[in-house]
Amino acid sequence: MKIVVIPGDGIGPETMAVAVEVVQAAARRFKLALDLHHDVAGHDSLRLHGATVTPALLEKVKAADGLMLGPMATYEFKDEAKGEINPSKFFRKSLDLYANIRPARTYEGIPTLTGAFDLVVVRENTEGFYADRNMESGGSEILVTPDVSISLRRITRLCCERIARSAFELARQRRKHLTLVHKANVLKVTDGMFLDECRKVAADFPDVTVDDFIVDAMMAHAVRAPERFDVIVTTNMFGDILSDLTAELSGSLGLGGSLNMGAQHAMGQAAHGSAPDIAGQNLANPLSQVLSAAMLLAWYAQKSGRGEYLEAAQAIEQAVEACVAARESTRDVGGQLGTREAGQALVRRLLA
Ligand code: NAD
Repeated sequence: MKIVVIPGDGIGPETMAVAVEVVQAAARRFKLALDLHHDVAGHDSLRLHGATVTPALLEKVKAADGLMLGPMATYEFKDEAKGEINPSKFFRKSLDLYANIRPARTYEGIPTLTGAFDLVVVRENTEGFYADRNMESGGSEILVTPDVSISLRRITRLCCERIARSAFELARQRRKHLTLVHKANVLKVTDGMFLDECRKVAADFPDVTVDDFIVDAMMAHAVRAPERFDVIVTTNMFGDILSDLTAELSGSLGLGGSLNMGAQHAMGQAAHGSAPDIAGQNLANPLSQVLSAAMLLAWYAQKSGRGEYLEAAQAIEQAVEACVAARESTRDVGGQLGTREAGQALVRRLLA
């Protein structure tokens, strides 16, 4: 499996260094033929190449089996004409990574506000209320006058159908319960189309139980009783917000693994951002990036039929569970370790 590794901005180099060590340890234990290619995007690339991402990098990623991407300082990239492209968007769009899979579960050893739960948010990734995803060129936010602005939200039948299908397939592999989250009471045309397509796809999955919630009420249900959910499917921005909430409910945003996948390609990227407030201080929780890398290995196992990659992914998840339960973790999840030391503990558990 050939993987391009890009550390990213802020805490990215620290958390990605741990993810690489863990994946390499798993490769030794399960005899994986892993081929890691290191490259840069974001601020490093802007300094080196005059742009946060380059066409050559995209070609390299297209030729590989997967991408491990660190967090990007997206908010600082404002002017595409100056090479400041949002790398996360660039890869999601260029590789058509339409499904963002964001699991959230509680762990023994991490105190939470709720009871135990284990759910997955499946978020559409290529359209919706994202100014940089909807148009052939230019953004979908418009300044009408200096005091009037408009933001457009694109929803298409194709994208609804394919995200619904991904979510149903995942639900079928889990507890066979899918929740549709929408705002079709007021966004009757766009979210109405989303609901309509999800219900059409449901006909192909009679073994999966389906229910639906309006997004605002969903936030209350997620906080009150997250254990009642299995797989949740929703449009882009609702999924972005809901999955940060569920990650935090599970104990920390630093626990939120995330996979962006399409028909051909996949990218493991932590759910959190570049966390400039703690960058360079050996404080960041590396688990989100590690779990995202494990999801990439599991995706490749399914695509290639090579079971040893799934075993490696499961062993990484078990090592994470064991470390967290033993408080061999960073401070945000109740431990006392730095990023590097938490990574060393994970490798020890993985190879024990
Ligand atoms: P953030 O996710 O970077 O940080 C939010 C809070 O969570 C901060 O207090 C931070 O210290 C903490 N946190 C985040 N990750 C952590 C980890 N691994 N361990 C411990 N604590 C962690 O969000 P932000 O501060 O709003 O955004 C910072 C930058 O990241 C912005 O430029 C934003 O646009 C960008 N961003 C990028 C991505 C991405 O690349 N996928 C996602 C979200 C935000």
